[in-house]
Amino acid sequence: MDQHKKGLNTVCTHTGELEDKTYKGAVSPLYMSTSYAFENVDVKRYPRYFNTPNQVGLAKKIAALEKAEAALIFGSGMAAISTSLLAFLRAGDHIVLQKTLYGGTYNLVTEEFEKFGISYSFTDGLKAVDFEDKIQDNTKVIYLETPSNPLLSITDLKAVANICKKHGIVSMIDNTFASPVNQNPLDFGIDVTIHSATKYMGGHSDICAGAVASSEKNMQRIFHLAKNLGGSLSDYTVWLLERSIKTMGIRVRAQNENAQRMAQYLLEHNDIEAVYYPGLPSHPDHEIAKSQMKGFGGMLSFELVPDLSASEFQKSLKLIKPSMSLAGVESTTLTPALTSHSLLSAEERKRQGIADGLIRFSVGIEETEDLIQDIEQALKKVKQKQ
Ligand code: PLP
Repeated sequence: MDQHKKGLNTVCTHTGELEDKTYKGAVSPLYMSTSYAFENVDVKRYPRYFNTPNQVGLAKKIAALEKAEAALIFGSGMAAISTSLLAFLRAGDHIVLQKTLYGGTYNLVTEEFEKFGISYSFTDGLKAVDFEDKIQDNTKVIYLETPSNPLLSITDLKAVANICKKHGIVSMIDNTFASPVNQNPLDFGIDVTIHSATKYMGGHSDICAGAVASSEKNMQRIFHLAKNLGGSLSDYTVWLLERSIKTMGIRVRAQNENAQRMAQYLLEHNDIEAVYYPGLPSHPDHEIAKSQMKGFGGMLSFELVPDLSASEFQKSLKLIKPSMSLAGVESTTLTPALTSHSLLSAEERKRQGIADGLIRFSVGIEETEDLIQDIEQALKKVKQKQ
């Protein structure tokens, strides 16, 4: 019998010694009864229940990084986003989301929410008042992204959080672009902070993961849906993410410095029409960024002068690679008009300020002199061709 029990324990590789205080009592009663059936065998730990030692250990670190009471790690940023939204919305509810939303979140809302009976509005602008303007009696969630994609506009976190508190609405932010190194939204009163951990947390463009951090009470609510939807991350990738997070602080600070240097260089360049980076004093939201960000981030966007082709420029770069993703240690670019925003009409892109020549630049940790040399040689090539 003892041998049999030992065997069961061995098979159940997700049993662990770590005392899990964060999610005490969160395991479903059904699962507890399974445990009871096996007498003393601990089968309460199970990957889809977000409670293996790896998951619990990393979730605690992410909670600490976001100054939250608790956190959960997901299989992707979209799993984290969809689970968090649906945990706070039900049929008959309404959500206000900012315009210029990450494409995956935009698709989730516009393609799926109607079938759940959830209505939505997008803001006209990115000021706090733009969010308040769209509130209805049945609004339950306000959702924002700052810095925004791809123009790096900044929304005042404290102002949005106060509006939400006044109206009894849950505030949620996609904090991916900033990373927890540069911005802790809970410090400003935002309720729920979400990450595509595929980006700065992972940092090496080799994993897909997501994370959510909030109060214990909110995380319990998200957990109850999360275990049913099944969007947990494999323990192996949790381990990789945990290794990546050890260097996130130094990676992101190096990216902040490099992005500031590259933004300044591009601003002074005759072939560049415009630069969007919240760290530049000329950026319209620079003062708000200074008040809520600890660093201005590794993301910037710039426009070539109209007679230079953005796609030819991108093809001519040697060191800086094109990529749909962002935030890795290697610098990458993306042309929103041809990729992430290609499904929008030209008119809508123009309305959102996304020029055909706009290039989103995710700055890595290389020597900035190498990045500048690469841009110089690419510009020379494009000009020679035209
Ligand atoms: N949020 C932002 C700002 C993103 O850029 C992305 C992905 O590009 C996501 C969320 C979705 O993350 P994932 O691809 O990890 O699901």
